[in-house]
Amino acid sequence: MPDKCGKTARRMAREKRTVQAMIRLYCRGHHAGQPTPCGECSELLQYALARLDRCPLAARKPTCARCPIHCYKPQMRERIKAVMRYAGPRMLWKHPILALLHQWDALRCWLSADHAGAGASARDSKHG
Ligand SMILES: [Zn+2]
Repeated sequence: MPDKCGKTARRMAREKRTVQAMIRLYCRGHHAGQPTPCGECSELLQYALARLDRCPLAARKPTCARCPIHCYKPQMRERIKAVMRYAGPRMLWKHPILALLHQWDALRCWLSADHAGAGASARDSKHG
């Protein structure tokens, strides 16, 4: 097992629970009257779970395991972004532990990545 910390599997399982909870929240809010998750949302959920399973970062860089969005197809990426925008704040009420762990993973991911020069160059290229 190349998994040094031994926590990757647990983290992945938690990511799956988180994305599932988020999609269910989103579906309940947007597709009322249908079974949760509805057909459209289960498609997104299956896609998200498959991405997590195949994410090459998961084994090598577990702190970024919560950043699979970059490997989503553009269409799916828009959908999962909408889900996260909607469900993100609500997760604190419905699933506080999952939400906190999710934020913690995000923070660790952010800290470990090279964000030092990320914002500086955007100004030049966007202007005009
Ligand atoms: Zn739905």
